Amino acid sequence: MKAIAVIGGGIGGLATAFRLRQHAAETGTPVHVTIYEAGERFGGVIASSQEQGFTLEHGPDSIVRSKPAGIELIKDLGLEDQLQPTQEFARSSLIVKGRRLLPIPEGLYLLAPAKFWPFALSPIISWPGKLRMALDLLLPRRRADLPEESLAEFVRRRLGKEALDRIAQPLVSGIYTADPEQLSLRATMPQFLEMERDHRSLILGMRKRAKDQSVATARGPRYGLFASLTGGLQTLVDRLLERLRGPGCDLITNTRVETVVRAEEGGYTLALADGYRQFDQVVLALPAHAAAKVTKHLDAALSFKLATIPYAGVATVNIALRVDQVPHLPIAAGFVVPAVEGRTLIACTFGHHKYAGRAPDGHVLLRAFVGGALHENALERSDQDLTDGVLRDLRDIIGLQGDPLFTRLHRWPKAMAQYVLGHQESVQVIRSRERGFTGFALVGNGYEGVGIPDLAAQAENAVDRLTGRDRSLPKPVRDAMSRATTA
Ligand SMILES: Cc1cc2nc3c(=O)[nH]c(=O)nc-3n(C[C@H](O)[C@H](O)[C@H](O)COP(=O)(O)OP(=O)(O)OC[C@H]3O[C@@H](n4cnc5c(N)ncnc54)[C@H](O)[C@@H]3O)c2cc1C
Repeated sequence: MKAIAVIGGGIGGLATAFRLRQHAAETGTPVHVTIYEAGERFGGVIASSQEQGFTLEHGPDSIVRSKPAGIELIKDLGLEDQLQPTQEFARSSLIVKGRRLLPIPEGLYLLAPAKFWPFALSPIISWPGKLRMALDLLLPRRRADLPEESLAEFVRRRLGKEALDRIAQPLVSGIYTADPEQLSLRATMPQFLEMERDHRSLILGMRKRAKDQSVATARGPRYGLFASLTGGLQTLVDRLLERLRGPGCDLITNTRVETVVRAEEGGYTLALADGYRQFDQVVLALPAHAAAKVTKHLDAALSFKLATIPYAGVATVNIALRVDQVPHLPIAAGFVVPAVEGRTLIACTFGHHKYAGRAPDGHVLLRAFVGGALHENALERSDQDLTDGVLRDLRDIIGLQGDPLFTRLHRWPKAMAQYVLGHQESVQVIRSRERGFTGFALVGNGYEGVGIPDLAAQAENAVDRLTGRDRSLPKPVRDAMSRATTA
C-alpha cells in the first residue's frame, strides 16, 4: 500500500486527498493518505459559523461556476443540491466616490465598458476621464515583443489614469487584493491582453464579448456565475472531512511539518516536532511561503523560487445589524472602495442580499474587507481599532446608525498570493523543479490561480502527477492501465 502525506489541510490539501482516495477506489490501487495540518482545524482560510441566526463567512464566500473543477468537486461530494446561487435582485456592485455610492453601469466588466449609454451616463468617471477612455477606440495595439506590463500600466495606456484609479484598481482589488502597479495582467486576466491583440481596442473587444450574456449584464463582477453552499462554504470542508474519515486516511491537526527531505531508501522523510515519518509520496498543499520553508533541505532552488512569490494579508469583519440601522442600504451585492479614497475599508459585501438566508428576518449582514497589498499595514492595527475604522467608514458611506448587534473580525495574514510581474516565469521554474522529483506535487494558491476552483483543478493535476493518470484517455482505458501498473 502506498503511503502518501498531504501537508496542509486547506481546500487544496483536502481536495487532493479526496481525489487521491477516489482514484484509488476506482482503480483498486490501495493508498493510505495522512493529512498534516498545522492549525487546530481543517479548511485553511475557508471557515463559516452560525451565530444568532446569522451565517458568517470568515474567509471566502463564493465559488465561481465558470471554472468547472470547483463545481465538479461539489457534485462528486454529493453537495449539488446545497448549491446556492446569488440572489438575482442583488447581482450588481457599487463604487465609492467621496461619500457617495455609485452603481457600476451595466456592461462594465472589470476594466472596460461593453455598453455605451449606461457608461456615458454614469458619474463614476468625469467627462475628461470618459473622453480619455474613448481614446482606446483609436489607440494602436502595443507591440507583442515588448516586456510584460502591469495591470496599472496597461489600463493607463489604453484607458487613462482615472479609469485605473476609479474602476480597475478597486474592482481588481476585490478579487486579488493586489497592487495594480505590480500585478501581472498576463497571469491574472489574460483575456484583456487577448482583446487588445484580437480587436486592438478594449471597448470594441468588450462589445464583441457582450454577446456573452454574463458580460453584457455584468456590473463589476459577474455575480450570476457565483454560488455558495447552504450553511456557508464550511459545508464543503465538512463534507470533504466526512468522506475522508475512516480507514485509509489519517487526519492530523496541530502538527506542523518542519521539512521534507528525500529518504535514502526511496520516498520522503518528514520532520515533525516529535520525530520523523516516512512516506512514498508527498503533496505540499501550502501557501508558497510555507512550501518554501518546508522544501529548504529538499531543493534549495525550488525553495528560493517559492519564497519569491509575495503574499498579502487581509481581514474580514462580519457586522450584524437590524434593518432599521441601515435604512438606505442600496439593493446590490456590495461595494468596492478605490484606494485613492484613503479609507480603511477596501470592500464590503451585503451578505444577506448576496445569498438568501444569511441573516434572520429584519436583519442585515455586512462583511467588510480590510488590508490587501495596498493597505498591508492595516493588519498591524488592533482588532478594536480596525473594527472602529470600518464602522466609521460605514457610517459615512451607507449611513449606518447605532452600534451593531455584534461584529466578528478574522485575520488572514499572508493568505492572498500576489501574481506580480514575472509570475508565470516563476511558476514555470517551480513546476519544472517539481518535475525533478517523483511522487512529489505542489498544490496552492501561489501558482495557477487563487480561487477555490483553481485549487480543485490543481488537486486533480496532483493526482495525475502522483499516479501517472492521463486524463486525456477514456476512463475505462485509464483504469485498466492503472490496474496493470499496480499489478
Ligand atoms: C478573505 C478571503 C476571501 C476569499 N474569497 C474567495 C472567494 O470568495 N472565492 C474563492 O474562490 N476564493 C477566495 N479566496 C481565495 C481562496 O479561499 C484561497 O486561495 C484558498 O482557499 C486557499 O486554499 P489552500 O488550501 O491553498 O490554502 P490555505 O487555506 O491557506 O490552507 C493551507 C493550510 O496549510 C496549513 N499549513 C501551513 N504550513 C504548514 C506546515 N508546515 N505543516 C502543516 N500545515 C501547514 C495552514 O495552517 C493552512 O490550514 C479568498 C481568500 C481569503 C483569504
